[in-house]
Amino acid sequence: MKVRVQVVIESAAGEPTDVHEIACIQRDELQPDTVGLTLDEAKTVLERIQQRIVEQHVTEYLQTQSCCPHCGTKRYHKGTHTVRLRTLFGKLRLKSPRFYHCQCQPHPTRTFSPLAERLPERSTPELRYLETKWASLMSYGMTAKELSINKWINRNSSREWSLGSSI
Ligand SMILES: [Zn+2]
Repeated sequence: MKVRVQVVIESAAGEPTDVHEIACIQRDELQPDTVGLTLDEAKTVLERIQQRIVEQHVTEYLQTQSCCPHCGTKRYHKGTHTVRLRTLFGKLRLKSPRFYHCQCQPHPTRTFSPLAERLPERSTPELRYLETKWASLMSYGMTAKELSINKWINRNSSREWSLGSSI
């Protein structure tokens, strides 16, 4: 058996615009230790799905920020830096452009970074909630370990597993 996991991005009209390979899972004979996903496989699939969903969401948000909302003039691009976002399903590195403010309105600064301003905490509320909740129940070290995402699959696993090449 071979199962491919993909993320399909659709337009507002429902047409697929982009397909991302997430993983390819192969299994041979059905055995108790080969049925379903391992915890590491599930975490990795979720991490890669999270990366694609967030990247698409960020891309669409930044498209709405590329022009001045007052006069419609395209904003000048000053540069790009990286924003790190911690989520329940992994740490993400996101490209974050910096724009010059349009001169049609007064602004306290000459430039701004819409993504950095939109995600000031650099972590999702769900992750912060669980970190706080778990920290009240166990040590910080155990909390960090339990909430971390393992990037690599256990090499001793008898299951065949590969990650998408487009990641
Ligand atoms: Zn303007």
